[in-house]
Amino acid sequence: MKRILTPLLLLLLFPGVSCSQDSAGTGNFEPSVDAMRLLSHVEILSSDAYMGRRAGTEGGHMAQAYVQQQFEELGLQPACSESFVQTFPFTASDSSPAEGANLIAVIPGTGSAAGSVVVSAHYDHLGTRNGEVYNGADDNASGTAALIELAREFTANPPEHDILFAAFDAEELGLVGARAFVRSDCFTASDVRLNINMDMISRSGAGELYASGTYHYPFLRPLIDGVPRKGPLTVLFGHDEPSDGFGDWTASSDHAPFNSAGVPFVYFGVEDHPGYHNPSDDFDAITPEFFTAAVSWIHDVLRVLDGAVDSFPD
Ligand SMILES: [Zn+2]
Repeated sequence: MKRILTPLLLLLLFPGVSCSQDSAGTGNFEPSVDAMRLLSHVEILSSDAYMGRRAGTEGGHMAQAYVQQQFEELGLQPACSESFVQTFPFTASDSSPAEGANLIAVIPGTGSAAGSVVVSAHYDHLGTRNGEVYNGADDNASGTAALIELAREFTANPPEHDILFAAFDAEELGLVGARAFVRSDCFTASDVRLNINMDMISRSGAGELYASGTYHYPFLRPLIDGVPRKGPLTVLFGHDEPSDGFGDWTASSDHAPFNSAGVPFVYFGVEDHPGYHNPSDDFDAITPEFFTAAVSWIHDVLRVLDGAVDSFPD
């Protein structure tokens, strides 16, 4: 069993983090998000108590409740409904009918222009197998944590366009939650112009984050590439061309249904690592300074893209 991270333990693990209010810096850069909270979400969601967060299981419901509570504490509005929860049916591995739950919040834009941006991350993982918990720290407690902390920043400084924050369920069972969202009235009513999807963004010894998808939407690349990196972060483009074969990630996570619906996307993720879909995908194995640098940069990219939506080609 893991313990909940105390600030003292955080400092031991991540000596660059300062707990003082005015300088939550990591070493030599100033993060655009709250690094302490970011790491805390990952440690909690990837603890054994959440039993691998498999869709439709008790652990999955616990993760749903955690994200929902964070959305409520941030004072976010439900998108398209009176509730954050968007349920959908799926078939469990034992062939029994089951129900998944996306959580969809919105931060209204301050501008008058039409169109919205969907920021997404799946919160489910693989569950337990043969008595081992697949904790899914990188996949995808990391993206879920980023989703929450990006929502915090955009609550404090609202976007120009409506931004929907979508915590999807049942990604590991075939992008089921994201597909249900794109089929829903909420997707249609929201006039979605861009999807920013985060899935595995916290573990790279080389400090490398992919911004994938610009092969399909080349107008996005200079906008993204122009955003300065901070901290230990190298941004790579790719993993999005048919010639990449099995390395083409175009259909590999929740951005795929958006792409199929004609919505431009950017997928942020790291190269596959030894922990990928293994019980060793643990909190202890993520690279905290890289993670913080990656989410900070994604935040800055999201600001730029929010400001550029009106200039996207039809
Ligand atoms: Zn994933």
